[in-house]
Amino acid sequence: MAIATINPATGETVRTFEAHTDEQVAAAIERAHERFGSWSRTSFAERATLMRAAADLLDAENEQIAQLMTLEMGKTVKSARAEAAKCAAGMRFYAEHAEEFLRDEPVDPAAVGAKRAFARYRPLGVVLAVMPWNFPLWQVVRFAAPGLMAGNVGLLKHASNVPQCALYLEDLFRRAGFPDGTFTTLLVGSGQVEKVLRDPRVRAATLTGSEGAGQSVAAICGDEIKKTVLELGGSDAFVVMPSADLDRAAEVAVTARCQNNGQSCIAAKRFIVHTDVYDDFVARFAERMGALTVGDPAEEDTDVGPLATEQGRTDVAELVADAVEKGAQLLCGGTAADGPGWYYPPTVLAGVTEEMRVYLEEVFGPVATVLRVGSYEEAVEVANATTFGLGSNAWTTDAKEQDAFITDLDAGAVFINGMTTSYPELPFGGTKRSGYGRELSAHGIREFCNLTSVWVG
Ligand code: NAP
Repeated sequence: MAIATINPATGETVRTFEAHTDEQVAAAIERAHERFGSWSRTSFAERATLMRAAADLLDAENEQIAQLMTLEMGKTVKSARAEAAKCAAGMRFYAEHAEEFLRDEPVDPAAVGAKRAFARYRPLGVVLAVMPWNFPLWQVVRFAAPGLMAGNVGLLKHASNVPQCALYLEDLFRRAGFPDGTFTTLLVGSGQVEKVLRDPRVRAATLTGSEGAGQSVAAICGDEIKKTVLELGGSDAFVVMPSADLDRAAEVAVTARCQNNGQSCIAAKRFIVHTDVYDDFVARFAERMGALTVGDPAEEDTDVGPLATEQGRTDVAELVADAVEKGAQLLCGGTAADGPGWYYPPTVLAGVTEEMRVYLEEVFGPVATVLRVGSYEEAVEVANATTFGLGSNAWTTDAKEQDAFITDLDAGAVFINGMTTSYPELPFGGTKRSGYGRELSAHGIREFCNLTSVWVG
């Protein structure tokens, strides 16, 4: 894919970029490697001062970077502003908590025959982050804030359609005072990733993206015996049981499916509804989905903007066409708009069966499937009948049922009476083909640390 800013609202190529040469990449790795020697020895207080400065700059530039995100990948400008604000908050969270999360873990010295014994978290070194375009700032910051606070240095290979966001992040950290080489953007295509991963100075990698990209990066890192964290796709269940507040569930269901123009890994994608409330819930849900305002993401009252790429829209349209051809009913949407821009309307598909591709594949656009179930057991069976295991949502006011869902849903997150959301305070990650490892919280900052056992006799 060419490295370029292409406005998804118009299809117009705004700016193209030359990929960095192998020599430029090698020089960046060397700068990062050298910087690690000094950066890893700075105090938490020094790092926190710079991280807070980056957060302040980001807040001051919220509008400017929001407009850039909207231009490059089509998210609504109001959601872009919220994303930038969330990034600043995430930076402050790790500025405040990194030291406490990485405090030495004491061990009873008598038990191991020592005078002193403890475990210490130490940074690993240069970490490569391969990131997707869908949350062009947040995906990066949730790696960079804990990573840099831990004393690691970062190399970013961002998605090829958000080069200006990628360059902005490098510039942001530099202007905040992070020394040269602490955080570097590599403008490279996916074909150049292997060489970076095989470089002995690069110690680990984190990838957020598709299964194929995850497989490739993990295979190379497996070969090189390097640590990886993978955050891959999802097809989250949203289960609605008879005791649920149906109106609230329908309202949240719409946001959970259509946030970020339907392009979120933790979007609810499969709506599994108990037969006792199926007709009522589905009517409310489809009505609200059909009433969303689709249009220019730069407009304040737009709910759903275009998909980020032309290929993305083609993929969504093909999945819907396959389902309809095999007998699914369209309750709303289902036809891509004519004219410029890669718009696809909020769509609800009922009567979905296992033969349809949408039953198992991730739909990366504002398309919901609704599935009728007759019991709690069937709801759990359908919810878990996926190769993914990222988030999950269950709506019930029955306390016993809530506990049962927490135990039975096979996913990295279970949200009861709310939509799956990432919070700096909560660990984030998946099971099954959604990946492994965790970001955010204390667990996220420890992923790229070497837990050193210390024994002093
Ligand atoms: P993608 O094609 O996998 O791209 C993600 C990143 O990986 C980009 O930087 C891409 O670079 C790079 N890449 C692609 N193929 C690669 C390869 N073989 N080797 C090395 N790097 C490679 O993903 P996408 O389709 O843009 O993003 C959507 C997917 O990401 C969905 O499945 C979504 O669920 C998932 N996602 C997961 C999370 C999570 O936290 N679990 C969050 C957001 C998105 P180029 O742009 O240069 O191709």
